[in-house]
Amino acid sequence: MILPGLIDSHVHLREPGATHKEDWDSGTAAALAGGFTALLAMPNTQPAVTDAETLAVALTAARKKARCDYAQYLGAGADNIATLPGLASAAAGLKMYLDQTYGPLRLDDMTVWMEHFARWPRHLPIVAHAEGRTLAAVILLAALYDRSLHIAHVSRREEILLIRRAKERGLKVTCEVAPHHLFLTSEDIPILGAGRSEVRPRLATPGDCAALWENLEVIDCFASDHAPHTLQEKDSSNPPPGFPGLETALPLLLTAVKESRLTLEDLILRMYTNPQRIFALPSQPDTWIEVDEEATWEICAAEMYTRSAWTPFEGWKVRGRVRRVVLRGQEAYRDGQVLAPPGYGKNLRMI
Ligand SMILES: [Zn+2]
Repeated sequence: MILPGLIDSHVHLREPGATHKEDWDSGTAAALAGGFTALLAMPNTQPAVTDAETLAVALTAARKKARCDYAQYLGAGADNIATLPGLASAAAGLKMYLDQTYGPLRLDDMTVWMEHFARWPRHLPIVAHAEGRTLAAVILLAALYDRSLHIAHVSRREEILLIRRAKERGLKVTCEVAPHHLFLTSEDIPILGAGRSEVRPRLATPGDCAALWENLEVIDCFASDHAPHTLQEKDSSNPPPGFPGLETALPLLLTAVKESRLTLEDLILRMYTNPQRIFALPSQPDTWIEVDEEATWEICAAEMYTRSAWTPFEGWKVRGRVRRVVLRGQEAYRDGQVLAPPGYGKNLRMI
């Protein structure tokens, strides 16, 4: 089965600052192994990507090490409102952290949100981490500024119903859901353990999970929110939130296709067509992935490329496996081997 090269609009690569968890090399290798030929990297690194200097640090690492194509987000802060628009065309988009998250970028003052909405170029994406009532607030502000807004990792019934209503009213809001919120719930927390189930937004109730499936047509994108931490960190007394997800997203969703929970067209729309349109990404010529849709296999972190070396889906039986990835005419992955060298990836905002 041939599919387009998939696009993951929500990936944490941990470089600069925490390359023991992941870097541009290991993270983009994991992307290719998972069937993604392009990813958008989040800005909550150490230091965070919030100005020209930190953007240059991230993009220099990417240029040397990335094996798949990419773009890098900028993080909205209280002190970079005036300077960010000048960097916007070099970035994947603007990320606004409005609720509890990993890293220092949280914004509480709504006048800061308003200034970013007023100044960030209208044709370039803004992505918000906003849960519950914060989501209602940011949708209102985006509407007041008459601009498009993409909501990251929707996880709860009240949120997907709010986005449904906003879309029905014609507001320019789009959203993504992470596979872990489609396949795991709060009932999995005792099975995974407290540290290994830590993620933001938290694993939600079975009712929330069912509401996401029931409102599939409201979901524009599936994005992994790949957020690697080591097992030692996850099992510590202060476990950081996040799951790796690049290498499990497609097999989990292909298994759901096999179980008739969604169609293959639903999947392609949310992992290729819609992310390309919403984030205004150029098409990747001569790029596709080859999937053995009948291959049944067991998810095993030891076989993965992510440096985090674990997965909350360990031992899950899935159906559908990436066999080959061709990126811009070159074989980038085949049968478990990443073939694209570090530095092969291109910045999609510079093409
Ligand atoms: Zn994230």
